[in-house]
Amino acid sequence: MEKAPAPRSAIGDAMVAEGVITAEQLKRALKVQQLLEEPKQLVDVLVDLGYSNRKALTDAIARRGSHLRLGDMLVEQGIITTEALEMALATQRDRGIRVGQALVEVGALNERTLLLNVAHQHGVPYIEPSMNMIDMDLLRGVSVDFLERNIFVPVSRNEEGRVTIVVGDLERPETTEAIKQLHFDNFTFALGPEDAILQTLKDLKNYAKTREKTGARGHQAAEEDSTVQLVNHLIGSAIDEKASDIHIEPMAHMVRVRYRIDGVLVYKTDLPPDLLPKLVSRIKIMAEVNISEHQRHQGGRINYLHGDKEIDLRLSVYVTVHGESCVLRILNKEMALVTLDQLGMTPTMLERFRDDVLDLPTGVVLITGPTGSGKTTTLYSSIDYCNEVGRKIITAEDPVEFTIEGIVQCSMNEKIGRTFANTLREIVRQDPDVIVLGEIRDKETAQVAIQAALTGHKVYSTFHTEDTIGGLLRLIDMDIETFLISSTVISVIAQRLLRRICEHCSTPYSPMAKEAHAVGLKMEEVREYEFKKGRGCSHCSYTGYRGRIAVYELLVLNEHVKQAILEKRTAHEIRRLSVETTGLVSMREDGIAKVIRGITTFDEVLKHTPRTFGIRPLRQVITLCQ
Ligand SMILES: [Zn+2]
Repeated sequence: MEKAPAPRSAIGDAMVAEGVITAEQLKRALKVQQLLEEPKQLVDVLVDLGYSNRKALTDAIARRGSHLRLGDMLVEQGIITTEALEMALATQRDRGIRVGQALVEVGALNERTLLLNVAHQHGVPYIEPSMNMIDMDLLRGVSVDFLERNIFVPVSRNEEGRVTIVVGDLERPETTEAIKQLHFDNFTFALGPEDAILQTLKDLKNYAKTREKTGARGHQAAEEDSTVQLVNHLIGSAIDEKASDIHIEPMAHMVRVRYRIDGVLVYKTDLPPDLLPKLVSRIKIMAEVNISEHQRHQGGRINYLHGDKEIDLRLSVYVTVHGESCVLRILNKEMALVTLDQLGMTPTMLERFRDDVLDLPTGVVLITGPTGSGKTTTLYSSIDYCNEVGRKIITAEDPVEFTIEGIVQCSMNEKIGRTFANTLREIVRQDPDVIVLGEIRDKETAQVAIQAALTGHKVYSTFHTEDTIGGLLRLIDMDIETFLISSTVISVIAQRLLRRICEHCSTPYSPMAKEAHAVGLKMEEVREYEFKKGRGCSHCSYTGYRGRIAVYELLVLNEHVKQAILEKRTAHEIRRLSVETTGLVSMREDGIAKVIRGITTFDEVLKHTPRTFGIRPLRQVITLCQ
């Protein structure tokens, strides 16, 4: 019998060449990997065997990047699956395109992740160019049309005279030829999204046109300090992209800029390292903090004018080994009031929420979920719905986050002794119909809520629990008598925010069996439907997502559930009863229905919704979530 060839791995060879493991260790690890029943990545096997640690291994892969194939690198780092790579390779063969492009097309990763990794593989920075980033001196005597034809743009020149040029493709030989024609002898490449390069060039052309028209004044603007422009660009685009934070982080060989958007850190761009001191000084001047202090952490505030809007920014400067790291938090004063039908509830659920919860004159309504799950938005739109002349609504909030005309709102202030405890004592004496308590945080608040409901009031509050049943159990844990809970609580709503697929780059894709299984579905069920995924574009910072949508679990208590509370049944039993007798739809099921409708992805559902037993068959989920 012929002996099977010894297994080989390009990644493994790279790690041996980098000296993080020995050839003997690699041989053993590959043998172990072959014997495993569940497939495992080589890096994991090496870590499990104790031959090296994950960081050393992934760093070695990154260092040897240019010698490795992109697909192998992505698989080894766990960014894509072998399954996805095989699909992409088939597409590549059929259509004669590059493997990276094929991976994006089959939906294995988005364009930004691809570009970041290609840049990584070649050891060059990733730069998303914009007009304000560009050193205009570099464009003197250069035709923008020529740059447009060749898809590249020079952005900056460092002190040694080396020019950084952002290209859309590192492997086009024509690009190097074109750059040589411009007589940039000393230059380095950076990789950036093609549409951002083209947009920058278009902006440059428009800018040149207005400058011709307005003459000297326009010319003066061009002379404006480029650092000021760059900082304004970073802040302005963060505001436009609805980011909550800007992170400017010095690293060994570059400055990394990331935005937090919809709760997730998004890679914005790299910047040449020599820009850091200028950037930090400019930001410090804006925040009026000491610009000559470089050894201590500092904090400050900036009042930034964006168009005609005043935006509050909070600055934190943190001293790191590579220089000062800045984080700017963007404080959003303009939280918009959302109407009930904009919340993201399905029509069936919304009708139920109105008829069986909001329209009832008395009882306790609890909205629950972790911080940042959108509870406050749901609370405010519920109050707004009840807000009419014939009804007195009073609140005790810590603090008031949004003011609504026609309701009496009170903010806590511990410093002057306006505490939650004494506010609660006073609130009922104000003769309200509806009481809103910002949050139930202890037994005392819970008791006030229940007492008020017993005396004929409607009470709204929020809670910090994983799901609706958890909310009920928390009350029981607080030693509230079960008969009081079952006779006052009418509904518990749990929620999470999932990222929405960007409508500008949403494209059809077929999910892998693994994704369907992870959320509790069978591949046979999933095959019947069409799915969407964002490819990544300039509108969504190349993440494929833009904005968020809430998923809900609406529990309206019926006699069966109340009885189960009286009997202090387990969470599992109460949930089963709620599903069977009240038609409770879990957040995961609501999320799945939103995936089917092309609003979000399985990834988001898996990341943000709690795992619950027994997902119903997909057809049934879709019917329930209509
Ligand atoms: Zn997009």
